Amino acid sequence: MTTETVAAEAGRDFIRDIIQADLQSGKHRDIVTRFPPEPNGYLHIGHAKSIALNFGIAQEFSGRCHLRFDDTNPTKEEQEYIDSIQADVHWLGYDWGKNLFYASDYFERLYEWAEGLIRAGLAYVDDQSQEEIRINRGTLTEPGRNSPFRERSVEENLDLFRRMKAGEFQNGARVLRARIDMAAGNINLRDPVLYRILHATHPRTGNTWSIYPSYDYAHGQSDAIEGITHSICTLEFEDHRPLYDWFLEQLPVPAKPHQYEFARLNLTYTLLSKRVLTQLVRDGHVSGWDDPRMPTIAGLKRRGVPPAAVREFVKRIGVAKANSVVDVGMLEFCIREELNRTALRRMAVLKPLKVVIENYPEGQVEEIEAINHPDDPSAGSRKIAFGRELYIERDDFMESPPKKFFRLSPGNEVRLRYAYFIRCREAIKDAAGEVVELRCTYDPATRGGNAPDGRKVKATMHWLPAQQSRPAEIRLYNQLFAKSSPDASNFAADINPLSLDVLKDARVEPAIAEANSPDAMQFERQGYFVRDKDSTPERLVFNRTIGLRDTFAKEVGKG
Ligand code: ATP
Ligand code: MG
Repeated sequence: MTTETVAAEAGRDFIRDIIQADLQSGKHRDIVTRFPPEPNGYLHIGHAKSIALNFGIAQEFSGRCHLRFDDTNPTKEEQEYIDSIQADVHWLGYDWGKNLFYASDYFERLYEWAEGLIRAGLAYVDDQSQEEIRINRGTLTEPGRNSPFRERSVEENLDLFRRMKAGEFQNGARVLRARIDMAAGNINLRDPVLYRILHATHPRTGNTWSIYPSYDYAHGQSDAIEGITHSICTLEFEDHRPLYDWFLEQLPVPAKPHQYEFARLNLTYTLLSKRVLTQLVRDGHVSGWDDPRMPTIAGLKRRGVPPAAVREFVKRIGVAKANSVVDVGMLEFCIREELNRTALRRMAVLKPLKVVIENYPEGQVEEIEAINHPDDPSAGSRKIAFGRELYIERDDFMESPPKKFFRLSPGNEVRLRYAYFIRCREAIKDAAGEVVELRCTYDPATRGGNAPDGRKVKATMHWLPAQQSRPAEIRLYNQLFAKSSPDASNFAADINPLSLDVLKDARVEPAIAEANSPDAMQFERQGYFVRDKDSTPERLVFNRTIGLRDTFAKEVGKG
């Protein structure tokens, strides 16, 4: 067990420790955090870590957590993403109440503050191209070079900036930059860009603006306007913190939030980059943002993962200051653990093989009682029809079984779950030699699954009545990537060609067909499954959330 896990189990981490200390010292009385997504894609499980941290802290310390859309780049942002993000945060079990904000709410104020920086000689309009700016920024070992436009007068800067705002110039013609230090050791302080020209329609402000603030300029000031006390973000922003603080020093902000950085979540067999996820959707590698193979919240939900499993996972991985990669098996463990506790048990036959019970009276049907949850009597029971014609799982039969195969084979006797012992008499084959039907007998004295003479069978198998069961399509998912650390820059090459297996001829019991629940069920001996949104009354579709045991590592190896 890692030290992080230990810390998480104690409900503590370095951020919570800081907050505790700030409350004790009286530095803060009310804790205010925020989750600040850019609405340029759907949320993924990495975001869930940040959401659980920010909203969790607000809950634990009786503070509040804002949901703030960092909507500063209208070319990439869409209302669909704004809506999905809200739905996903709610699904995870968190609520921002009245505290829903947009960086675009602050565009006016941010603009005025930028003029203030110009007046103070702390910002200038630069006419260099993007390429020139990049080259003149220098490197980690070499200082940058001052822009030839750096010494413009306040009047000229104000005039140009206002004309940028008025839409007079084309995209990329000019930018507004802070005037800090082109020789600063920290490259983020080498006159960072505050505003760029962008003639684009914004989902909220329409065509009001022709210039948009950069992330660095908008983010900290938005925090300050909202009175965020602890601005928690991922490690890649650590080097931006001096700039974050520089703005708060220079501007007449109403509060001075402090930025803290934690390690982002990385998962094996998974890529958590919005660029990659967007590409997977656009290029049709998956059916959409909510494809059950996607690590998005929408994908996890559609796959049948309960939100409590995601919360438990995030709690177990903890919050640390050093980047690491979490085994996706840990997430799967949390999903199995939660579903084992909560999912109702049902029977489904994924690859059916017909069984005819020759000594069972034709036309007769009886009802067999099946319990809904072995550890929870309050979940009750249901009735399943048993008759002369049944289905069993094709894999549960072998004509010439190896030594340790205890399931059905000619002459062998097994138990049908909740029902009877049956013995196979004969396997019927088609012209191609494939087994298409089993002729069996049953022992009426074994009703309920035990023999009065005390004889034992070594296997208990699930089954369904041929007539009363319903056809269904079942989608089996595996990891989207075949490698434990897929290459983000060439991810298509690492996609697992076997990530989806569709079984078109499955059968499910009526209780499965009739339940219209968003919750996953356990299909006995098979795993956990949930009804998919593609289902119609005529054509039921189920997604496998996860198998009962971890077989993936064995099948694919360690990539
Ligand atoms: P991009 O990949 O475009 O940089 P992003 O995933 O950082 O996007 P944002 O919308 O900026 O997307 O993220 C919102 C918040 O979620 C940020 O505070 C960010 O630090 C946090 N976050 C993003 N990815 C992870 C991750 N893998 N683990 C933990 N937190 C994350
Ligand atoms: Mg980001």
